[in-house]
Amino acid sequence: MNLGISILNFFFPIHCGICGREDIFSLRTGLCGSCYRASKNPKRPFRCSVCDSPLLDQSSICEFCDSRNVFFTKVWSLRDRNDLLGNALNKLKSGNEYTLSIFLSLGARRVLQKMKVLDLDACILLPSYSGSMIFTSGSRPFSPSERLEKEARRILKTPFIQPLRKISPERQAGKSFSERFFHAHHSWEIQPEWKGLCPAKILLLDDVFTTGASVNEASRILKNNGAKSVYILTYLRTAD
Ligand SMILES: [Zn+2]
Ligand SMILES: [Zn+2]
Repeated sequence: MNLGISILNFFFPIHCGICGREDIFSLRTGLCGSCYRASKNPKRPFRCSVCDSPLLDQSSICEFCDSRNVFFTKVWSLRDRNDLLGNALNKLKSGNEYTLSIFLSLGARRVLQKMKVLDLDACILLPSYSGSMIFTSGSRPFSPSERLEKEARRILKTPFIQPLRKISPERQAGKSFSERFFHAHHSWEIQPEWKGLCPAKILLLDDVFTTGASVNEASRILKNNGAKSVYILTYLRTAD
């Protein structure tokens, strides 16, 4: 490490969100140089035009979006999930780790800038039950998607609303694919004051797009209550 960097690290020590090593690179990305390189995924040129999942060939829509009732309009995920990224998200969920939220939201600005043309009416932070709402020492509820919310507020300048209410304390994690679909059906309900009154174009923020069951169900409820298009933005998506 050269002297300049040693001095900077002395005055502004920042530790890699994954391995804990001090590295000036973490100041910008939240991870040290080597963890950052390990977080990269191979390029996947073909993507579903709706859910953004990688495809084997140039067909424009995946089986998932083609075969089922899909209620969301389009999904953006900042990265494909891999072991290191999944680990980073779990660490972020288990404690409010600032450097990891920097890292996971890298690229959010670029995507949000592009979304300006959609002329969105409202944003929603997908409500979770205690599962991913962590009460920190000040007993302030912490959502892993908080930084995504901050960036969206700053760039889109769109109001945040909360028309959904979580009604099931069960979590999605550890459930099979079919269980998730069954379960998602009973996860939320519309808040009485939003019945039939949801704005037309909504952006939903969540931490990870796994089967899409949760956001699809949320989108279904919003559309039943007046929404015309529901867009999704998450840090990660499961790509296999
Ligand atoms: Zn590291
Ligand atoms: Zn798809």
